Amino acid sequence: MDRNTKKALRWDSGYRTKPVKPDKASFSSGKYSMAYACLDCKTSFQRSFPGAPCDYPLHGQCVSCGGVTYNLGRHFKAPKKSDIAQWKKVAYLVHHGFYFQKIRPIKNSYCNVSYPSTLAEAKVFVKKYKKHALI
Ligand SMILES: [Zn+2]
Repeated sequence: MDRNTKKALRWDSGYRTKPVKPDKASFSSGKYSMAYACLDCKTSFQRSFPGAPCDYPLHGQCVSCGGVTYNLGRHFKAPKKSDIAQWKKVAYLVHHGFYFQKIRPIKNSYCNVSYPSTLAEAKVFVKKYKKHALI
């Protein structure tokens, strides 16, 4: 008896249940999508996961190049692919632990700092808010 016949018999006997294919919709049915950006191929795409957004993984795998993607939150707007300077700034921030998370220098205050718009500003920003870095 070959493997497939055995398998079919087991299913027929009810001994084993047929494997359930994961529902593709479950990937996008979450309430919140987060922007995952790949610094290698300079793309960003929205993903959502089951569970609370704060439990979403910080890293993922890029769908186009297989590289590492970074969870940059709900409000991240990816620069154009051709905008190398902006991508350099994003990479600089990410590599220093700034995943575009909200930074609130005053405890219990809703005031948050806006992110730098240039690489030069990012260098100052990273020094200034070092203790807020995620890594
Ligand atoms: Zn990529």
